Amino acid sequence: MNYSKTFQEIYNELQRVEDIGQVANYIPELAHVNPNQFGVHLITVNGEYFAFGDADVKFSIQSIAKVFSFVLAYSRVKSNIWERMDLEPAGTPFNSLVQLEYDKGIPRNPFINAGAIVVCDILVDELASPRENVLSFIRSLTKSSTIDYNPLVAHSEKKSGFRNYALVNLMKAFGNIKNDIEKVMDLYFSICSLEMNCKELSESFLFLANNGIVPHTGEKILSPSRTKRTNALMQTCGFYDEAGQFTFKVGLPGKSGVGGGIVAVHPEKYAIAVWSPRLNKKGNSYKGMLFLEEFTTKTKLSIF
Ligand code: GLN
Repeated sequence: MNYSKTFQEIYNELQRVEDIGQVANYIPELAHVNPNQFGVHLITVNGEYFAFGDADVKFSIQSIAKVFSFVLAYSRVKSNIWERMDLEPAGTPFNSLVQLEYDKGIPRNPFINAGAIVVCDILVDELASPRENVLSFIRSLTKSSTIDYNPLVAHSEKKSGFRNYALVNLMKAFGNIKNDIEKVMDLYFSICSLEMNCKELSESFLFLANNGIVPHTGEKILSPSRTKRTNALMQTCGFYDEAGQFTFKVGLPGKSGVGGGIVAVHPEKYAIAVWSPRLNKKGNSYKGMLFLEEFTTKTKLSIF
């Protein structure tokens, strides 16, 4: 099957749809991104790949990085991470504070901001150089050595990250943050600032479609059982209060970020990354979601 042709067809159809979203301007540095860029890259577990549009242009992956930091903690940390966070869909926006008060500082899952901040606290505790360890881990999943943090984006978000500081302070008050707040938040803002393109993103998620093994190196990242669980978490929590919509319309486990990227996987088959910077009201890529909905509908390649 030649998916490049399918990509072109869907792209043409979407040209007729008005892109009603807006780029993420609450992080000042992201407000400058040209909103008309569009890229997609699919890679199969057998090594076939298909690219379209701006598939090689790097962008800010933002919350997609929450999957990398979670997997690193899940695979390397000996303590029980589920004592520090839950695994239920939150049904609230990614930066919401409300549940934390009721749940005594225990985030609903690792893919909302509060959960990802706790994961950073765990990594600061357990790894010698967490910032370097996260980066080398992500590079080891791809064939690319150019993946890096963008300090300008990290700094820009740090200066305007009042909600994230509110989350970390509340959790510290409940005793669920062990380390110095600044150390934890520096790691959190760094991982949010990671820049990757659709090609690198689809490659880096392929182990989740391949029972936890990186196809091009044979390295085992997670056991099949933990791979299943990570995919289940992406399915139920990867899109915040739009996880139901994404499951209903696209039908794949996946993760979004406010840079306009979405990555999704079909276990045993493929990983796909799409990028379109304008976001819907829930902070997910407006055209990216439409594109993936059309793709899994036309090709019948959803898990349902
Ligand atoms: N860095 C962003 C934040 O903390 C990540 C949010 C996202 O991509 N959904 O607000």
